[in-house]
Amino acid sequence: MNELTIEESQKLNELTVEQQDLVNLIREFVDKEVLPIASDLDHRDEFPEELVEAMKEMGLFGITIPEEYGGLGLDLFTYILVVKELSRGWISLSGVINTHFMAAWMIMTYGSEEQKRTYLPRMATGESRSAYSMTEAHAGSDVQAIHTRARREGDEFVLNGQKMWVTNGLRADMVMILAVTDPDAEPRHRGMTAFIVEKTPDVGEQPGLVVPPQLKKLGYKGVESTELVFDGFRVPASSVLGGEGMIGKGFKQFMAAVELGRVNVGARAVGLATCALEQAIKYAKERDTFGKPISKHQAIQLKIARMATNLRAAELLVLDAARLKSTGARADLEAGMAKLFATEVAMENAAEAMRIHGGYGYSQEYMVERLYRDAPLLVLGEGTNEIQHLVIASRLLD
Ligand SMILES: Cc1cc2nc3c(=O)[nH]c(=O)nc-3n(C[C@H](O)[C@H](O)[C@H](O)COP(=O)(O)OP(=O)(O)OC[C@H]3O[C@@H](n4cnc5c(N)ncnc54)[C@H](O)[C@@H]3O)c2cc1C
Repeated sequence: MNELTIEESQKLNELTVEQQDLVNLIREFVDKEVLPIASDLDHRDEFPEELVEAMKEMGLFGITIPEEYGGLGLDLFTYILVVKELSRGWISLSGVINTHFMAAWMIMTYGSEEQKRTYLPRMATGESRSAYSMTEAHAGSDVQAIHTRARREGDEFVLNGQKMWVTNGLRADMVMILAVTDPDAEPRHRGMTAFIVEKTPDVGEQPGLVVPPQLKKLGYKGVESTELVFDGFRVPASSVLGGEGMIGKGFKQFMAAVELGRVNVGARAVGLATCALEQAIKYAKERDTFGKPISKHQAIQLKIARMATNLRAAELLVLDAARLKSTGARADLEAGMAKLFATEVAMENAAEAMRIHGGYGYSQEYMVERLYRDAPLLVLGEGTNEIQHLVIASRLLD
């Protein structure tokens, strides 16, 4: 196949010059800096400090934050292109910026002007890092079942409760928290409020808050997932997202961010599935059996053709959902479909890449074992794929 020129490629993908330049920059970063070390960092479960510094320098922490607040002011579609490229290297890298991006989007969309001026400039540089927390030990899919309570006391709210699976929970100095402000509200979601909670980063204990040691996981290593245990943690009333007029609106604000998160996870899945395909093709050309490279055996060719076709379909679904969401239009159906399909493709491509590597696929010497451990997170996060089926069906049956 002839290589496309940059101009031809832009036309085909309808990318602007700026978007194509950014994609090229991240692709080069991933090839040179990320892929050579990602599996080692994963095996040591080590936070990718230097890579994160490089991401800060590229402006990735403020990619969608408007220029007036110090960010790059790029749109969601461009962000999705970046997430796809980063995840081709290592999904944990995109994990470091994803919750940050969602928190920034919530402040940009719902925050008061004062909140925007306070948080966005330092978020844009990556000086301040953010997490996004609604899940609790007993409530993941069923968000309305959360217990964490924010009780009003004068000019403050007092937080009590235990959050679970908080990505970036230790290093973040700001966490977007969903809490119950009115336990008697019917339906329950009307009694829930979003808070911008500031905390001291990198410490296990501070007054009213314990961050226990990070949770041990199958994959998605390097980036920490923690619990947050609130016991009388005080926040000013001004930390209600959007101001006190938004008390009781938190559930809707979090759900809107999750819709965005779904496109995001779809892009991470496309990145991982791309890496799996690339590794499978490379190995299939190198490995000989029965006197020829395994790429010459039709059984392997069938796998590669299916992986590539599914990947292309996944990519188109994700880009379609990202374009729609970028316009501000309702995109729950498209985001649900993109997340569902792309993450299943990531699971399948990771497994097939491992099988193409034969016994070596099971060894830590090749990166496909990392992909095989990372992929399952994608079918679980931002709403499990079972829940995506429900989202899609309910929109169609409405
Ligand atoms: C590594 C990691 C990082 C995470 N990061 C964050 C984060 O930063 N912030 C955050 O808030 N959360 C985070 N999560 C939480 C994640 O979003 C939840 O784990 C997920 O939504 C599923 O919730 P659950 O684990 O409670 O499973 P459950 O809701 O208990 O579901 C268990 C099973 O039942 C199925 N199920 C549930 N309800 C239905 C239904 N109505 N119909 C059919 N099937 C159903 C589910 O699909 C699943 O198969 C993270 C999770 C992981 C593993």
